Amino acid sequence: MSLRPLADARRHGGPGGPEQGLLELFHGPTAAFKDYAARFLARALAALPAEGERHVLVATSGDTGSAVAAAFHRRPGFRVTLLYPAEGVSPRQAHLLGCFGDNVRAFEVRGSFDDAQRLVKEALGDPDLRAHAGLTSANSISLGRLLPQMAWFALAALRHRAGAETPPGFIIPSGNFGHGLACLWAREMGLPIGDVLLATNRNRALVDWIRTGRAEPRATLRTPANAMDVGIPSNLERLRARHPDPAPLRLATGGFLDARAVDDEAIRETLAEAPRRWGVVVCPHTACALHLLGELRDAGDPRPWIALATAHPAKFPEVVEPRIGERVPSSPGVDALLERPASAEPLEPDPGALTHILRRSR
Ligand SMILES: *Cc1c(COP(=O)(O)O)cnc(C)c1O
Repeated sequence: MSLRPLADARRHGGPGGPEQGLLELFHGPTAAFKDYAARFLARALAALPAEGERHVLVATSGDTGSAVAAAFHRRPGFRVTLLYPAEGVSPRQAHLLGCFGDNVRAFEVRGSFDDAQRLVKEALGDPDLRAHAGLTSANSISLGRLLPQMAWFALAALRHRAGAETPPGFIIPSGNFGHGLACLWAREMGLPIGDVLLATNRNRALVDWIRTGRAEPRATLRTPANAMDVGIPSNLERLRARHPDPAPLRLATGGFLDARAVDDEAIRETLAEAPRRWGVVVCPHTACALHLLGELRDAGDPRPWIALATAHPAKFPEVVEPRIGERVPSSPGVDALLERPASAEPLEPDPGALTHILRRSR
């Protein structure tokens, strides 16, 4: 993790202007913030007593699968099976899922992410198969992935506090809402955190819940920030269970929490603008957060803010390069994985096919 101070080229004031930083969380082996929590989970699971081998089964639409694979790769006592959809994973994401080998197997499901997810849920829901194959999951509602995410909010807030009066607010690119929830928990523990602003893409369930208190199921929309393409954020359940009414949390009614949706065009414009305005090349998810930071500054907001950079732009060259007009900066982690050969086996979206594989792999 590294906290990079940002200068806003739109300000002419120089020193004395509002403080803002970009918290880079993409320095792990697969260049996304999910590396941290996946590695914590792997070590925590390894420390628990177990009978026989454990088999981690994951459906992924992108960053989760490679982070989990890297965390468990060559770890004795574990086997990993990744299922990703043939539709909707970029070539680079597919490579990062298929390049591990050894105790990690990748399957390309002939269908959508929902098909892959359904296969995993059915397998985990079959007690006989679950016991036989030693199945466990590492999905994004696992507490073993949420709790470690509180650490960097604590560290960044305390570091910032060392030199400032006002606690910083955080701007968090959000999809399934694990990252945002970890920030709210860190704040509730008493860490010096100001307002919390969730940046979503067009999948705006979090925005609607905070504004209206309603959380209606919605179809998932595809956007340039694809790791945040979530129609119904799983972790919203957790927040709603504690706060059935969002009004006391809502910034507009005296609370500290707000969410805003960033449309596809604004994501693209921010990707193009970020090098000139903020001096950084960012990924499309991070662009959602920087877009909101830009809106706050343009409206004259003077408070300190920390925006989160959730993935390295090198993971998304096909989205970023046309906007910045040059090659994305390279990431040593991504480059090393791209040099490995990658392969995946095809899988029909039918539960029998997966059951067969899981029974045989023991
Ligand atoms: C997973 C992911 C997000 C969204 O995080 P949630 O915890 O699901 O809200 C944002 N950016 C990137 C790059 C991601 O991989």
